[in-house]
Amino acid sequence: MDGVQSMKIVMKFGGTSVGSVAALKNVVQIVQSAKNDGHRPLLVVSAMSGVTNKLIAAATAAEAGDENAAHAARAEIEQKHADTTRELLGDSAERDAVLAEVIRLLDEFETLCHGIRVLGELTPRALDVISGLGERMNAPQVAAILRANGLPAAAVDARQLIVTDKRHGAATPVIDATAEHTQSALHPLLAAGKIPVITGFIAATADGVPTTLGRGGSDYSATIIGRAIAADEIWIWSDVNGVMTTDPRIVPDARTIRHLSYVEVGELAYFGAKVLHPRAIRPARQANIPVRMLNTFDPTHPGTLIDGNIRTDGRAVKAITAIKDMSIITIAGTGMMGIPGVAGRTFSAVARTGTSVLMISQASSEQSICFMVKTAESPTVIAALEEELARELERRDLDEISVQDETVILAVVGAGMKGTPGISAKVFGALGRAAINIIAIAQGSSEYNISLVVAQGDANAAVRLIHDEFDMGQEST
Ligand code: ADP
Ligand code: ASP
Ligand code: MG
Repeated sequence: MDGVQSMKIVMKFGGTSVGSVAALKNVVQIVQSAKNDGHRPLLVVSAMSGVTNKLIAAATAAEAGDENAAHAARAEIEQKHADTTRELLGDSAERDAVLAEVIRLLDEFETLCHGIRVLGELTPRALDVISGLGERMNAPQVAAILRANGLPAAAVDARQLIVTDKRHGAATPVIDATAEHTQSALHPLLAAGKIPVITGFIAATADGVPTTLGRGGSDYSATIIGRAIAADEIWIWSDVNGVMTTDPRIVPDARTIRHLSYVEVGELAYFGAKVLHPRAIRPARQANIPVRMLNTFDPTHPGTLIDGNIRTDGRAVKAITAIKDMSIITIAGTGMMGIPGVAGRTFSAVARTGTSVLMISQASSEQSICFMVKTAESPTVIAALEEELARELERRDLDEISVQDETVILAVVGAGMKGTPGISAKVFGALGRAAINIIAIAQGSSEYNISLVVAQGDANAAVRLIHDEFDMGQEST
């Protein structure tokens, strides 16, 4: 390791990266090679792939009165851990200890689901306890597998590290308390040469009530912990070669983007690139910690480096994303110009529902406001708006509040767009030639993003057309 600087590296392994025997063998190799290079790795791990979905589906079924779903989910999850540990830990005390913990947590799961079925109610607080069980089963498992391979790992429950507010399902960390707890728990382990294996996704309030950071939140756990311990780098290990020009499942010739700035990747994540949780970039950006997006199944691929440098690489547009299952809500009326504060009242009413507005489109005529929310949240939003604007609707100052489902936001992203004329014209030209209708348009505040709305049925074609129009599949020269 001559000449290599020793770095403190937070490595996050996602669901597929810890979801099979083959993947876990790669994890061992990756950690081993980081150690061989003289680095000090800390792991953040998700639940094994599919586990969180099963836990949530069973809890939801219990609320609807289904008695059997929890039992079936329990059997599948237990089997998955039993099979994995049989292969990787053999017949050992380590395996017995891991399985005992898995069984204890699954007993807790069944008890909780029973309570939910009896009460007929699944509270956000209970859902957080249930959905976080997968990480609590997996961190001890991964730690035991590392130890079985000669790596001195210790499982750590992130509820002891990350302190959040009380917003169940999408909690936000309290920075100072998190830094204090994380440092005092992890520094002794690091000083003793241990490799902490920390549960992703879960956290707790200052009173110790369990919370979660939102679906896909283990990425966020990694950057929160990275900032708290002043990591040198954060490596997010997933099942793709870094951040790509678009979702490779939609466009097979999508290509790895070698470098992105925090702002660009923030736009991509916000607008649907599932490869990184939308809130995960903020802690890294605040502490200026480089983030690498890497592939557990192709560990030598350089992936994507994310940092504060803005490089255009000779390209105005770097990537295109799509967020599906959106609804466009329009408030329209010829009397709207005369009513002061309609926009303010509209967005305050939406904010009170706790829903986030993903895009607001400007209407030049001032006779309508339109914005995008997730379809699952649109009934709540509509109800809140009908209440807030009841008087105006009754007086016919406002004609209607309408909603169009099955729409998609496309976001075209790249730092080089700033100040480059003609980007929108190229986007619209490509879609126009294919007769794809654009329902709404917005320019992102950062000027690194143009977003547009199309019908869900047109989305994949639109992504492919825009990807081709900007030659995103070609290596830049
Ligand atoms: P993990 O469980 O490791 O967190 P995710 O499934 O959450 O992994 O995210 C990785 C997936 O994100 C990839 O398999 C890929 O299909 C999808 N994805 C969507 N957009 C992109 C993109 N622009 N670049 C790379 N992957 C993307
Ligand atoms: N296991 C959690 C989820 O499926 C968190 C994560 O994977 O990042 O959402
Ligand atoms: Mg993810």
